Amino acid sequence: MIQHNIFEAVKQSVTPWQAASFYGLKQNREHMCRCLFHRDTHPSMKLYDDHFYCFGCGKTGDVTALTAALLGISQIDAAKRLCEDFGIDTDRKDKASRPELQEPVLYEDDTLMPESSLPENKAEIIRGLLRYRQITEKQMQELSPTAPDGEWSDAFCKASKQHSRAGYLLDMLLFGTEQEANETINMHSLELEGILDAARRFAPAG
Ligand SMILES: [Zn+2]
Repeated sequence: MIQHNIFEAVKQSVTPWQAASFYGLKQNREHMCRCLFHRDTHPSMKLYDDHFYCFGCGKTGDVTALTAALLGISQIDAAKRLCEDFGIDTDRKDKASRPELQEPVLYEDDTLMPESSLPENKAEIIRGLLRYRQITEKQMQELSPTAPDGEWSDAFCKASKQHSRAGYLLDMLLFGTEQEANETINMHSLELEGILDAARRFAPAG
């Protein structure tokens, strides 16, 4: 079963706290973080090596469930994303007897290359991310529950995740080494294009 394999492969390769740091969820040295499943004002959720557990609301799950909640995507998409981002080969067992090299995609004709709308200038990417952070922060303010113990709406959670994600990318560009910054831009070029595009669409005229 492919679906069973992918979840197992992910679980054996990535810990919840590794995924949390990779996708920008802040945690302390004890791997405690704010819960993604209830309105948490201080870190109540503990990230273990094979699962997470919230001491506030009791929510528990594995690395795939955590990633799905963090990125606002389905569990199967989260598993695929983890495989991609952590270089996990889900067909390992099946292919063990005949290892195959992944062929790089070659473009014979330059015109077939997907055109990138990402600015070559790093400063311009940073400006776009900062703008996007402002937009998502404003959305969070507008969408935040009015009562102190009010439910978080899906839209609020989405804006909050987008805000954190942009913050993570921004950190890599601002505080990473030159190499880390370039790797971030290369690895997440499509995502960055999307973010900058959104920032542009929200930008005030002039
Ligand atoms: Zn909780």
